[in-house]
Amino acid sequence: MKISIGQDEGVWTSEWDELTPDSEIRMWDYFGLRQWISKFTPRYGKTVEAGSGLGRYVLYFSRMGIDIEGVDFSGPVTDGMNKWTSDNGFNAKFVRGNVLNLDYPDNSLSGYISLGVVEHFIEGPQKALSEAYRVLKPGGVAVISTPSRSFYIIYRNLKTSVKNLIKKLILYRKQEVPFFQYWYRPSELKNFMKEAGFDVRIGRGADLQFVFCEMADFTDKYIHEGSFGYNFSNKHENGFLSTFGAQSITISVKRAPLMSCFLCGEMKAGEESLDNFVVPVCKECGEKKISGYYKKSAITAYSMPYKINPPLLHPEERTCDFCGCGYTSDPLFEDYGFSKKVCPSCLGKSDINITLCCENIKPVWRKRKKGLF
Ligand SMILES: [Zn+2]
Ligand SMILES: [Zn+2]
Repeated sequence: MKISIGQDEGVWTSEWDELTPDSEIRMWDYFGLRQWISKFTPRYGKTVEAGSGLGRYVLYFSRMGIDIEGVDFSGPVTDGMNKWTSDNGFNAKFVRGNVLNLDYPDNSLSGYISLGVVEHFIEGPQKALSEAYRVLKPGGVAVISTPSRSFYIIYRNLKTSVKNLIKKLILYRKQEVPFFQYWYRPSELKNFMKEAGFDVRIGRGADLQFVFCEMADFTDKYIHEGSFGYNFSNKHENGFLSTFGAQSITISVKRAPLMSCFLCGEMKAGEESLDNFVVPVCKECGEKKISGYYKKSAITAYSMPYKINPPLLHPEERTCDFCGCGYTSDPLFEDYGFSKKVCPSCLGKSDINITLCCENIKPVWRKRKKGLF
């Protein structure tokens, strides 16, 4: 039998042990799917990040006034995070739990986020995705990503299998590598979502930049500004070549005749709204300008090219671009990763944070652990 370490609590506790919430937050705005995650995380009702680890998105979205909880199966991680969040003034909660058997009632959540989690089950992602479907309310949105077989992974696997073949031929025994994760192409992840009952609204590849990062052994060798990798990933991230990116992302809805409206949270969005919108939107909200971001024809994209290793911003006095008030910038989230200045109170307003997430996202690449990058 193949040994699996993808589901080992000790492995993950020590994985997270090497990082701190501060270091995670410091690279929070790096993550290559932020444009999708921040746009499609519901602003109303409760959202859960299942398999949250140090939960940088849980912390980030709590700053946007989103009711969000992180679920992780490592007790030391959730205990440590709860202490850290209360010491640092965050309104976010971490719960110890199992993503295959969540402690939430049926039809109770507005959002379910899962970033690089479901590929770690040796038996496949089906059980975790069915559980996501169960806990979401009608109209609830699931934002699910897994690593994909990017052009680099395909190349690397090919190289390994040729090597293994040669070893076999000359009677070496193949070394058994313990199972850690699968890589799902966008079409495979889409099919798993459909099998779990979801209406997959968007399913595609993303994060070309990470491929160049992997190729250079997690250094910025191929992605520094002006390099081929930098230009290529900036140019093609929103085109069809992104299907060969490092990750697969799906935005899916639990479809029903009557659904929770993404823009007001009321259970009054009809199924016909999905003809025009990616997420359920009620008639009134469909009249509002902000609904335009969620039209099927609207694109989801970064607003500018990547910044590679920008210097950390120190807290400073600023004037909010939305209300004109003075405020001190956040020491951890700096400018919240936006190209506009926003005060904490405006950031908590859903129409403002949706606009920022759709029009002003500043993508960043940063070093993670000391020594790794
Ligand atoms: Zn509405
Ligand atoms: Zn303001």
